[in-house]
Amino acid sequence: MTFQSGRCVNCDSPISTGILCQSCTPSVPSVANREPTIADMTSGQSGYVAEYAVFKAEGMIMLVGSAKITTEISRYQTVRITKRNDIYEVDSQTIASWDIYEGWPQAKEDTDYLLAKLV
Ligand SMILES: [Zn+2]
Repeated sequence: MTFQSGRCVNCDSPISTGILCQSCTPSVPSVANREPTIADMTSGQSGYVAEYAVFKAEGMIMLVGSAKITTEISRYQTVRITKRNDIYEVDSQTIASWDIYEGWPQAKEDTDYLLAKLV
């Protein structure tokens, strides 16, 4: 493949910088525009999730990865969780065990189920 400076490598349109023209540049979804989810958390990070994000299945406590996480307690996000390496800790002071949904939730979209434990 020959690369000619000033031309889009995909469609050959004249361009002033880079290797792709505006219309050939893939749009990168902006993380800042998307609400952070449980799956986005990094180890050591804490936040609040809605009760529905926590469930019990096959004897394990799990979290819905696509559930929204907030840094401050809010009207719906009341359960405090912390990510510790590969496991999420659910603060048992913030959710009663009888409020934890039993069984696999009906996910609206593709989501990861993340292993958690009550602490
Ligand atoms: Zn192009």
